[in-house]
Amino acid sequence: MQQTEPSNIVGNEVKIPYMTILGVLIIIVLFSLLWRPLNPDRTIYIPLTPQVQTTVLENERLPAIVGNATLEIVDDRTSQEQQVSESLDQPKPEDDIVKDEIDEVISQEDNTVQYMVGRGDTLYGIMMQYGVNRSDIYLLTKQYKQLANLRIGQQISWVTDAEHNLKTFNWVISNNNVRIYERAGDKFTERTETREGIWQPFSINGVIDSNFVVDARNLGLTSNEIATITKALQWQFDFRRLQKGDKFSVLLSREMFDNKHENSQLLAVRIKNGSKDYYAILAEDGHYYDMNGGSLSQSFLRYPLEKQARVSSPFNPRRLHPVTRKIAPHNGVDFAVSRGTPVLSVGEGEVVIAKYSGSAGNFIAIRHGRQYTTKYMHLDKILVKAGQQVKKGDKIGLSGNTGRSTGPHLHYELHIDGKPVNPLTANLPVSDGLTGKSKTTFLEQFKTIKPKLAFASESTETAQTNQ
Ligand SMILES: [Zn+2]
Repeated sequence: MQQTEPSNIVGNEVKIPYMTILGVLIIIVLFSLLWRPLNPDRTIYIPLTPQVQTTVLENERLPAIVGNATLEIVDDRTSQEQQVSESLDQPKPEDDIVKDEIDEVISQEDNTVQYMVGRGDTLYGIMMQYGVNRSDIYLLTKQYKQLANLRIGQQISWVTDAEHNLKTFNWVISNNNVRIYERAGDKFTERTETREGIWQPFSINGVIDSNFVVDARNLGLTSNEIATITKALQWQFDFRRLQKGDKFSVLLSREMFDNKHENSQLLAVRIKNGSKDYYAILAEDGHYYDMNGGSLSQSFLRYPLEKQARVSSPFNPRRLHPVTRKIAPHNGVDFAVSRGTPVLSVGEGEVVIAKYSGSAGNFIAIRHGRQYTTKYMHLDKILVKAGQQVKKGDKIGLSGNTGRSTGPHLHYELHIDGKPVNPLTANLPVSDGLTGKSKTTFLEQFKTIKPKLAFASESTETAQTNQ
């Protein structure tokens, strides 16, 4: 007994710490299983001050202004943990938006962007929204100060490589003065093309037989011309609605070189769908308007939320994956919003996808006209169905934490012509119509153009005004 007693004591002494350690281990395991970070975006907040603007180039930090509200922006590289866990917000490949012929025509080559300069544009701003490597933009604009003189309505285009480095940049100053900038080592070179073609008006009348792209091509319209037409009319008219026997009339100015044309400008287009007429006419400001000088655009919300939210991860097409060191683009903006926050459609459009899809979680894609698509990911709830029409500001879902996501947030993407752009800086369409003197000028101009868009079957009186 005396011998067993101490051994019992020893046994108890051993059992108690053993149980305690086991208990602690269970608590640790349970805690690590149940624990959710309260603030998944371990980020550095940059106060939005004018000084931040000047540090953009060195620090790769972009201050964003949404409406009148300011957003705090974080440096993506400081939130490595988030990068690993949310490397790509990708729906499953089969849930990509199905492209039709018009989409193919509009999106064109992968790495080429064509852009018409609008009011308030700067070259830096334009290229930043498309995610061009900012040190390249800086180099180009520093070397060629004249690039600060872009004019409204001028056409620019550029080519980037797979890593968003700028290879060439074209600036159409006038019809016969095109400046071409090419990357050569650590600088850009400039040359000017000054071929003189002859600009000639062309009018083309067609009847829909199969579909617009095929019928327009058969009449000699180029892909660029077809893309311009479908973009000009995108908010008024869905080209898929065209029926056999519907008519179209196109007025172009083409620059001819030895009987071949390379450049062209769409002056006016008219589509007759059943008994309804749709017009788009080029005004002096480089934009297209309807026959009354009204806008052909729909305006957009800058962000898909009722009130401002912090950006926890900015748009960054050159984001490097911290582990693989490969480019793992962040094609959208992450807004730090709690679960259940209403998500709004930023514009009028058609829901094309509304389903759970891989690492995107609950995912909605909306088409707005022909050029614009928006995507909303990691939603808690989807409140719309594919095929549904939505208006600007409609509640389409509730934000959440589904798919590959470390904490509640909304991942939002905006694509223009099939390419992801920065939704916070992108040039969104405006819905202002013409007013005052520019409207009077426009209406005068339309009087002379209208007869030129008449169909052969229409009254002889329009045919006479034609001459
Ligand atoms: Zn994201």
